[in-house]
Amino acid sequence: MTELPARRLLLVHAHPDDESINNGATMARYAAEGAQVTLVTCTRGEEGEVIPPALAHLAPDREDRLGEHRVGELAAAMKELGVTDHRFLGGPGRFRDSGMMGAPQNRREGAFWSTDVDDAAPYLVEVIRSVRPQVLVTYDPDGGYGHPDHIQAHRVAMRAAELAAEPAFRRDLGNPHQIAKIYWNRVPRTVAEEGFARLRAAGTFPAVGSPDDVPGVVDDSLVTAEIDGTAHVERKAAAMRAHATQIVVEGEFFALSNHLGQPIFTTEFYQLVRGESGAPAGERECDLFAGVAS
Ligand SMILES: [Zn+2]
Repeated sequence: MTELPARRLLLVHAHPDDESINNGATMARYAAEGAQVTLVTCTRGEEGEVIPPALAHLAPDREDRLGEHRVGELAAAMKELGVTDHRFLGGPGRFRDSGMMGAPQNRREGAFWSTDVDDAAPYLVEVIRSVRPQVLVTYDPDGGYGHPDHIQAHRVAMRAAELAAEPAFRRDLGNPHQIAKIYWNRVPRTVAEEGFARLRAAGTFPAVGSPDDVPGVVDDSLVTAEIDGTAHVERKAAAMRAHATQIVVEGEFFALSNHLGQPIFTTEFYQLVRGESGAPAGERECDLFAGVAS
């Protein structure tokens, strides 16, 4: 068996770009500290809207080559974050982007949303049993904001975590492994409000979103961990910029294809939903591995 780094973090995301927006600073921090950081992206994001006019020909209703292009954007982003282990669930193109909720693409053959959770989860079980992460990060049951691929990524991640630990499940996929801690991506409402106030004052984007446009915004009291990414925010911004078909970065702000400005969060927030907090009662953890025996 090859020797694994002492600390191992697994992140499960729906599309290329979600990892950099949500967890870019966290990923850069742990990679810089020598932890194993493994990203599993469930689809290639084939249904995304293309921002740069020069690349509009890649769109699904034209050449339908956006998926291949975004594989390259993701690789460039991971280089910025110092993350070398990034994979697509079942391999690139195994599951297709399902489009927004209610779109006909939801039900297309091979769409991630139309795939049975138990058909997709074994691909992730295999990753979990080989990487043996102590920490898993994914979305909440609503996928943070209701996108079908984000909801499905949550379901597959939670199901795979359960199946990976079951001794009787598919021993051909590796030895059972119990993930010590599972977190969902969060943004405290006050932090989101403060970020939008800063953006409005800066006037960087003519149109500005609202906290409700930010996935995972919740009441501050639900947030149990915060990772200070101050030292890594430049890497996060560079990784976001690498997703050029999807994101425009301006200083400490960004916009998606809806052109609504949003703040880039320097500190990233989480809610612990499985396992024990390593922080004193009532305090937020500042390390996702807190309390984990390595
Ligand atoms: Zn996404």
